[in-house]
Amino acid sequence: MKDKISIVGAGLVGSLLAVILKQKGFEVQIFEKRKDPRKSVLTEGRSINLALSHRGIRPLKLAGVYETIAPYLIPMNGRMMHDQAGELTFQPYGKEGQFINSVSRAQLNELLVVSAEKAGVEVYFDHKCSDIDFESNSISFENRENIASDLIIGTDGAFSAIRKKLQFTDRFNFSQYYIEHGYKELAVEPLNDNFRLAPNYLHIWPRGNFMLIALPNNDKTFTCTLFFPFEGDPSFSSLKTKDEVDDFFSKYFKDAQELIPDLTDQFFYNPTSSLVTTKCEPWHKNRSILLGDAAHAIVPFYGQGMNSGFEDVRLFVEMAENMNWEWDKILPSYSSQRKKDADAISELALLNFIEMRDHVADPDFLRRKKLESQIQERYPKEWIPLYSMVTFSDIPYSEALRLGKIQKKVMDEVLTLEESEVNFEQIIERFNALKKGD
Ligand code: FAD
Repeated sequence: MKDKISIVGAGLVGSLLAVILKQKGFEVQIFEKRKDPRKSVLTEGRSINLALSHRGIRPLKLAGVYETIAPYLIPMNGRMMHDQAGELTFQPYGKEGQFINSVSRAQLNELLVVSAEKAGVEVYFDHKCSDIDFESNSISFENRENIASDLIIGTDGAFSAIRKKLQFTDRFNFSQYYIEHGYKELAVEPLNDNFRLAPNYLHIWPRGNFMLIALPNNDKTFTCTLFFPFEGDPSFSSLKTKDEVDDFFSKYFKDAQELIPDLTDQFFYNPTSSLVTTKCEPWHKNRSILLGDAAHAIVPFYGQGMNSGFEDVRLFVEMAENMNWEWDKILPSYSSQRKKDADAISELALLNFIEMRDHVADPDFLRRKKLESQIQERYPKEWIPLYSMVTFSDIPYSEALRLGKIQKKVMDEVLTLEESEVNFEQIIERFNALKKGD
């Protein structure tokens, strides 16, 4: 008889994991603290969307649920930059035909929960895990008796109850770091039943220390997100009145302001949320393990939080299958092998904030990107730009980070040259030599 597996948290990662483990023949149950989203309004009318890319799509295909999700995706072919005068510049994300996808988080979550139920997973909503006993492998709830299992998987998000319990165990390391910026979402409604911005792009208004972005939704709205410091001038705390908000937007985001007639109402009504990075290790204790945000919450600037969580699912299941489902060996092995990649994407996500808000509009950055795509055209197997390694490949994040640092070193050197002095053969030789550690 196959093991009984309990998953805590029917978010994105937990519900996808449940589908796959059920398909492998396990008895799987998920416990979710929220009420069933199909029976309640979840997001207070706001539409939160995420960028889904290769590392997330691959496990969705593995689970056989991608076909169900694909109709809900909106392709975004690149960044559409808005400067302060309202001028637009397009930057493709990768090679021709490469794109990322905007998807509603609530819709995706619901589709995954439905897929889990269809696969035969028992999903229990309104079940908040309040405690866990690592010795007896049992979970306690506020509203029912304890449940014992052969394996417990904590996919209960950035503020994981299971991780909190691990913090009381010996030799468990934990850190959390809040950046000085928070975020606020603002909705752009359709005009005459049409998108008010070109839909197949991720729109960015980079403004140095802060930025606004917008992703399209299926209902022809856009969700704008303002990433902005909590303190200082300007900041969330410096904008106290509707006039101040109006003046601020008209100075920095005039073209966006024109798309949101009720901007000041939304600004004061919608919540301001914080952004945290969490790190911990080990991710397991006896027969319990953390996956997704519960193990490694990151800031959203590389669009990889969910994607890395879905990749966790694929790598965990692949490793478990290869190790013949022997959990006592799998958990420590997975926990130690995956950790360096979680740390790498965490670092990359923080660095990408600086790139998005500050560098993307910079002439040096644009020259760098242009040269990089020329190198890639000539040496497609040897030079894959960092963004493409992270977004369109399975190259481990830690290797992408290592290669990205070498690419940066090479490009810093190349950028000191005149256009006529650039020699692509020498560039690739230098890159290969540094890669080998010469
Ligand atoms: P969650 O989605 O947080 O799910 C955890 C689940 O556990 C929830 O359903 C919760 O209710 C439940 N739970 C919590 N505690 C308990 C308990 N005690 N008992 C039972 N259940 C519990 N990622 C991307 O890949 N691309 C993006 O573009 C992107 N954009 C983002 C933008 C913003 C502004 C933010 C904040 C995040 C973004 N992310 C993005 C990150 C992404 O949202 C997360 O990485 C992803 O949701 C993590 O999934 P998860 O299942 O691990 O956790």
